[in-house]
Amino acid sequence: MIGLFIGDMAGSFREFSKNKRPDLPLLPDPAAHPFLQTKIGLTDDSILACATALCCAAAREEGREPGPADFAAFYHRIGNAFPCTIGGYGGMFRVWLQDNERRPYGSFGNGSAMRVGPVVHFASTIEQCLSLAAASSAATHDHPEGIKGARMTAGMAWLYAHGETDPETVLRERWGISYGRSAGYDHFDAICQETLPLALYCLDGATGFADAVKRAVTVENGDSDTLGAIVGTIAEARFGVPVDLRDQMAALIQPELRDLANDALSALP
Ligand SMILES: [Mg+2]
Repeated sequence: MIGLFIGDMAGSFREFSKNKRPDLPLLPDPAAHPFLQTKIGLTDDSILACATALCCAAAREEGREPGPADFAAFYHRIGNAFPCTIGGYGGMFRVWLQDNERRPYGSFGNGSAMRVGPVVHFASTIEQCLSLAAASSAATHDHPEGIKGARMTAGMAWLYAHGETDPETVLRERWGISYGRSAGYDHFDAICQETLPLALYCLDGATGFADAVKRAVTVENGDSDTLGAIVGTIAEARFGVPVDLRDQMAALIQPELRDLANDALSALP
């Protein structure tokens, strides 16, 4: 989940910039770059990932696995309690936050994949991981492509975290989950079908965590924070997260999100 936070934060100030600033460090110091002061931080990806972690932890306390309705309740409560000050929430999600019946809306946006990372920590088998990923997606993104994007992200991370060196083959051969590759966006749509092939491209040949995330957040026209969050989720499981990056990220969390982030991190098993 730290990897997700770092990827989100590294993308936060690059998201709406035409120039993806590959010259800047992954997490630059705002004291040295004043233009960053209100632009770098955690965005919707991390806020909703905290909700994923807290939902899984609450269900575990009750000795059960959370279903779509449980995830929906947490996304709704936390989404409404924590306004997203950098980047904002997605348009359809904003409308859903007003719907007290919390009905899923058939989305295949990449929001299902950006927030799914914490389920990896709550799953003792790959089957359980894919089931939790599907449930978290189905809370809002119940289109098959939304669910597939969440299962791919979580499945890759779980398998890497458990020593598998070729998770894509396992997911394709055992579960029929696979994507091709793309090196860039030809248009900006923020959907799973576009984002996952790009995430896999960024992970191909990456030499370490920071390299993978840097490739993700500097993709031209990229949905930088979400691509960063997805690649950060998988890269954390594959490479681990360098301590200095973890510390830099922790220092840059906005004050109003600090308790939420700490609660979510402490809720991980
Ligand atoms: Mg975001």
